[in-house]
Amino acid sequence: MHVATKALVLRGVDYKESDKILTLLTQDQGKLTASARGCRKKGSPLAAGCQLLSWGELVLYDYQGRWTVKEASPERIFQGVRDDLDKLALACYFAEVTELLAVEGEPNPQLLSLILNSLHALDKLHKPLALVKAAFELKAMCLAGYEPLLEGCAVCGAEQPEEPRFHLREGVLHCARCRDQVGEGISMPINSQALRAMEHIAYGDPKRLFSFQAEGEGLRQLGDLTEAYLHTQLERGFRTLDFYKQLQVEAPTLS
Ligand SMILES: [Zn+2]
Repeated sequence: MHVATKALVLRGVDYKESDKILTLLTQDQGKLTASARGCRKKGSPLAAGCQLLSWGELVLYDYQGRWTVKEASPERIFQGVRDDLDKLALACYFAEVTELLAVEGEPNPQLLSLILNSLHALDKLHKPLALVKAAFELKAMCLAGYEPLLEGCAVCGAEQPEEPRFHLREGVLHCARCRDQVGEGISMPINSQALRAMEHIAYGDPKRLFSFQAEGEGLRQLGDLTEAYLHTQLERGFRTLDFYKQLQVEAPTLS
């Protein structure tokens, strides 16, 4: 059976002499694994459309539950991301998180749109990488069912919590003095700029996901919070993130 679907290549592993095994996020079938035979041969018509982070129309063939890529017509390859090692490393982290959250056989248009918009932001929007990263992380958590509660203190109900903090495991805002009643686990301080940014990301129009201001200490707090929140909720780290952070340490001027 042949199926045509739009798809993003989340991961590609070399296989045999000239093949690749691809992890795809497809529009119609959710996550899917497919082999791309001969795509590493020079001049293969599959080469461009089967590279990592390529988005386009694929024709897939299903034989006894195994998918093979028959045709690949790339529409976006996010060249600006490929040309910049920091952006590429961050994009690979987005892809690894997306692969974890996506489910086989279940289309997830919101998650697909989140990663495509995030890749577009890295490619074209000239936003700080830390801002794009924070927006992706928090929105991904919202889509995975971990939308944070940011409207006032979760304990006493104060609309403007005093010395506000964000509890990572519970995903709630609270005042410093209400700390003991939130439960065990880590709470991180959150200033007003970081809080406004989190509200924008979590509750705002997804089409304007990256249209918020955060800089200096606010952006640093926001980034620390969204990263720690994602890791706390998913209970794991990501080797692609480790690599991205290593680049920031080695070349701080590029961050
Ligand atoms: Zn309180």
